[in-house]
Amino acid sequence: MSKIGTICVQGGYKPGNGEPRQVPIIQSTTFKYNTSEDMGKLFDLEAPGYFYSRLQNPTCDLIAARICELEGGTAGMLTSSGQSANFYSLFNLCSCGDHIVSSSAIYGGTYNLIAVTMRRMGIEATFVSPDCSEEELEAAFRPNTRAVFGETIANPALAILDIERFANAAHRHGVPLVIDNTFPTPINCRPIEWGADIVTHATTKYMDGHGGTVGGAIVDSGHFNWLAHADKFPGLTTPDDSYHGIVYAEKFGQGGAFITKCTAQLMRDLGSTPSPQSAYYIGLGLESLHLRMERHCSNAMALAKYLRDHEKVSWVTYPSLPGDKYYDLAQKYLPNGSCGVVCFGVNGGRAAAERFMKELKLGIIATHVADAHTCVLHPANATHRQMNDEELLAAGVTPDLIRFSVGIEDINDILFDVEQALSVV
Ligand SMILES: *Cc1c(COP(=O)(O)O)cnc(C)c1O
Repeated sequence: MSKIGTICVQGGYKPGNGEPRQVPIIQSTTFKYNTSEDMGKLFDLEAPGYFYSRLQNPTCDLIAARICELEGGTAGMLTSSGQSANFYSLFNLCSCGDHIVSSSAIYGGTYNLIAVTMRRMGIEATFVSPDCSEEELEAAFRPNTRAVFGETIANPALAILDIERFANAAHRHGVPLVIDNTFPTPINCRPIEWGADIVTHATTKYMDGHGGTVGGAIVDSGHFNWLAHADKFPGLTTPDDSYHGIVYAEKFGQGGAFITKCTAQLMRDLGSTPSPQSAYYIGLGLESLHLRMERHCSNAMALAKYLRDHEKVSWVTYPSLPGDKYYDLAQKYLPNGSCGVVCFGVNGGRAAAERFMKELKLGIIATHVADAHTCVLHPANATHRQMNDEELLAAGVTPDLIRFSVGIEDINDILFDVEQALSVV
């Protein structure tokens, strides 16, 4: 098996003799067939092949295959955003009347998806702290629980999920663990090796890496035995009338059922389809992912240490920094580095944070994170601006919190920018 850096560059696509070295962009909605019978077989899922790019497209599939290989899964697919990757992953397992156990330390958009939008669809959720006790975790499960969800490194809380512990709890209750692995990327952590069943990504972040393309990905580990828990997952284990009674778990096996159903049913009906052009850009990003992650992590570590020792900085959170609350979990799951995002507060609270932001010159103010360019956000003034100080604290976002997404610029320039901004606070 190839090493991860080789998969970044070559995974998913092995051109034949005389074929293009770079992944071809198949910018076509439809595919031509000689007979209606040929085409009919595709519509019945009786033969593999492409017929309409809302469901599947060759360019998108080549990039999905690379991400699948990076995560060590059995099947993968792209979606048009990270949001749709998480929604499809969960909705492929749950329907009205079901329940999800989710870590409370997750991306705000995903929290909203689960707590508000999926609730309106009749899917309830219980949120537990990633640091909750065994009793609290057990108590969160119900007979109708169908999935456990969490983020390897939470955006923006930078909490590390104890993946093994959450996987064991999920499996004790006969349900899969879905992990959003956006922040570490498979370069720094491969959740499947720790028991995760489904892995999702906002490829928008480090995978694309250049702030150019919104996208998502889903990878199935192939480890979850749907048929052993058939009563919980009728969508995978009973006939699908919209495909002449196919049973996904039987026809496509343990390694293929989840992604086939997600593509053939959810993508067909909901259509969060990435464009082939977008998939191509993500592929370009992946080719340097292993190099960029190294630089993101070394830059972030240098910044975290600098901030820790600065007299105007009141606190710093970075999981790879010795002494951090999540240092031990980071050493276990992310021994080679965590991510490029560092959170901190400056003395003087919200006003000082606002002043600091105003002075930045290299770091751009943006809601984006996990990008080649250094992006800085003061959530109390941006994404979380509707909340008062009390609500901010409840959400784990202190009024002074600055989320600093360290790019791959020269670290001396980044530190110089922070130094000059702090000097006027
Ligand atoms: C950004 C992000 C998402 C959502 O991704 P989009 O591509 O913006 O829809 C989901 N999870 C995490 C951890 C993220 O950082």
